Amino acid sequence: MSSTQSKLQIAIVGGGIAGIALALDLCRHAHLDIQLFEAAPAFGEVGAGVSFGANAVRAIEGLGIGKPYQRIADRTPEPWQDIWFEWRRGTDAGYLGASVAPGVGQSSVHRADFLDALAHELPPGIARFDKRAVTLEEVADRVRIGFLDGTEHTCDLLIAADGIKSSIRDYVLRGLGEPAVAPRFSGTCAYRGMIDSETLREAYRAAGIDEHLINVPQMYLGLDGHILTFPIKQGRLINVVAFVSDRSVPDPQWPQDKPWVKNATQAEMLDAFSQWGDAVRVLLECIPAPTLWALHDLAELPGYVHGRVALIGDAAHAMLPHQGAGAGQGLEDAWLLARLLADPQLGHENIKRVLEVYDAVRRPRACRVQRTSWEAGELYEWRDRQAGDDPAVLSTTLANRFDWLWNHDMENDLASARVQLGWQTAAVR
Ligand SMILES: Cc1cc2nc3c(=O)[nH]c(=O)nc-3n(C[C@H](O)[C@H](O)[C@H](O)COP(=O)(O)OP(=O)(O)OC[C@H]3O[C@@H](n4cnc5c(N)ncnc54)[C@H](O)[C@@H]3O)c2cc1C
Repeated sequence: MSSTQSKLQIAIVGGGIAGIALALDLCRHAHLDIQLFEAAPAFGEVGAGVSFGANAVRAIEGLGIGKPYQRIADRTPEPWQDIWFEWRRGTDAGYLGASVAPGVGQSSVHRADFLDALAHELPPGIARFDKRAVTLEEVADRVRIGFLDGTEHTCDLLIAADGIKSSIRDYVLRGLGEPAVAPRFSGTCAYRGMIDSETLREAYRAAGIDEHLINVPQMYLGLDGHILTFPIKQGRLINVVAFVSDRSVPDPQWPQDKPWVKNATQAEMLDAFSQWGDAVRVLLECIPAPTLWALHDLAELPGYVHGRVALIGDAAHAMLPHQGAGAGQGLEDAWLLARLLADPQLGHENIKRVLEVYDAVRRPRACRVQRTSWEAGELYEWRDRQAGDDPAVLSTTLANRFDWLWNHDMENDLASARVQLGWQTAAVR
């Protein structure tokens, strides 16, 4: 590092999957001083399962957290190990086709277990809790963060991983001369629950429903609704997400004072799927107390970086969960940024340029994943103009729709970033 200061000081605000993964990678480099600030009193995740595509699993490996991940991850069991999801009609569970991800299939974890496993890897002294960032200013070559408790921290650069409701996003967009971008309600809500897999097995046996539907991840499709299931906790639990969409208004609004997640009743969930078949009915009957999530995303941002401040994860590109790709995109951000920030060619003089190159490389792909996540919901819920509810078109479209997302070459991104920076020597691992 070309500076009198011995260590480059990097602050990360937000300890979700993206922020912790970045901190874990960066804190392995002795020439960097990493501090992670989390608003909550402890790391924590809500919700149930989270699944990762092949690209995200590669990012996990690349970030050096493959071992803790694999210890707790579930995979589609043999002999269906390459299947991501089987696609079925919601009305009768009729088979439409499958999406296949060779070597990965469906890779998923329980969210809380994953965050625990990551937090466990973090050396002491990196994470600080009860630190809600409320102010930000760049003075000369430093970034000053003010916290709600009245304390301050200064650093050389700040990475904001503060999620979909990010306040640092406003700072970045203001700096770019752009209007603020608020989360927007999608018109879709999701009932979520987890079922003991033995309970579901017994219920399916009693109803004469094929247990294959428990063994292999399933996606049931129908007009303005879809339901996904996949195993977590080494198959002991089945994660269920049942989506219902109201497309009657073009610009749906979620009341500002209403929480995005609330408890729901089984009766209302069953009612939403009353026209669907037995496999769905029996599945939902096994969830006595679902939660209901109002799904929000962000419009594509005009930039992720201003000065010495960069956005990663949902703060930059929150998306609908229909490709199971949101957290994975945060991990791709973290992987690329960690490779660039740990490189000895990073110095005080080129921090801004490095962040600009991160933006140039990552933003087009993350925006495409955002866009196609919304489109996937339209397709699953029979609102895609070309596919509609045509089984043959749905089958062929879904068979390889996700290949570009999963097969993305992150090493190419890194090579491209290094060329843009004029860094010709071998990359830091
Ligand atoms: C129903 C549903 C299903 C999903 N399924 C999948 C899936 O299967 N696969 C997938 O890849 N993605 C999925 N996603 C998306 C995924 O959950 C998110 O993309 C991911 O969790 C975002 O991680 P993050 O670290 O960017 O943000 P977050 O997890 O939101 O973390 C942000 C952190 O920042 C902290 N924070 C906020 N403001 C401040 C502040 N001012 N100061 C300090 N700290 C602050 C918060 O407390 C929080 O800990 C799903 C999402 C939903 C809603």
